Amino acid sequence: MERTLVLIKPDGVERGLIGRIITVFENKGLRIADMKMCKPSKAEAEEHYKEHKGKFFFQELIDYLTEDRIVAMILEGENAIELIRKVNGDKDPLKAEGASIRGKYAIDRTRNLVHASENTENVEREISIWFDCK
Ligand code: GDP
Ligand code: MG
Repeated sequence: MERTLVLIKPDGVERGLIGRIITVFENKGLRIADMKMCKPSKAEAEEHYKEHKGKFFFQELIDYLTEDRIVAMILEGENAIELIRKVNGDKDPLKAEGASIRGKYAIDRTRNLVHASENTENVEREISIWFDCK
C-alpha cells in the first residue's frame, strides 16, 4: 500500500468543492488516512513549492496558496502517487482529461484546485510541512 499527500487548494475551499473532490478519491477506492484544514503561511507555501522558485509564476503561486485555508489529506491505496496525479489531471487545463478533477472544474493555470505529491521523497517532505502547520 502506498501513501501520498493531497491538498485541496484555496480555490477548492472557496468554491465549495471540498465534498465533490473528496468524493472522487473515495469513489476511486482510496482511503483517507488523515485530514486537516490550515491556512498556509508564506514560509510553508515557499517550502512546498521550492522547486519552482525563480519561475515566472512563482509569486502568483505563493499569493494563491496563502490566500485562504486549504485541506491537507494523506491518502492511501495501490499506486496512490501515480493514480492520484492522474485523477487530478494535467496542470494545464487545456490538457487535463475531461473526467479528471482539473478537467471538470478548473480553467486557470494557477488556480487548479488540487495538489498531489510527485514521488515518495516529496510525500514525506510535504507531509511534514502540512501536518505540522496550524
Ligand atoms: P502539478 O504538480 O501538476 O501541480 O504541477 P507543477 O508542479 O508543475 O506546478 C505546481 C503549480 O504551479 C501548478 O499546479 C500551478 O498551480 C502552478 N503552475 C505550474 N506551471 C504554471 C504555469 O505555466 N503558469 C502558471 N500561471 N502557473 C503554473
Ligand atoms: Mg508538482
